[in-house]
Amino acid sequence: MGRSPARLVVDRKACAGHGICYATAPDLLGPDEQGDPVVLADPLPADRLAAGQTVVTVCPERALTLTEPSVHPSEEQSS
Ligand code: SF4
Repeated sequence: MGRSPARLVVDRKACAGHGICYATAPDLLGPDEQGDPVVLADPLPADRLAAGQTVVTVCPERALTLTEPSVHPSEEQSS
């Protein structure tokens, strides 16, 4: 219906790679060969929205963002 789905986004510059996120929600994120997180559930299923919000809060580096359908992309930072 024209609404963009919720998505988890990893800021690789902020990420420290210690894996709390994919240990917390292994169905949403998993490690790549270097141990860096890869988003597995993309877009985020509607019934996993709460889990997506939780995993954003457990990241101590604030490297995870959840884009929600109501958030406008104009708030993105360019650098
Ligand atoms: S918890 Fe945050 S900093 Fe740690 S691996 Fe996941 S995204 Fe990276």
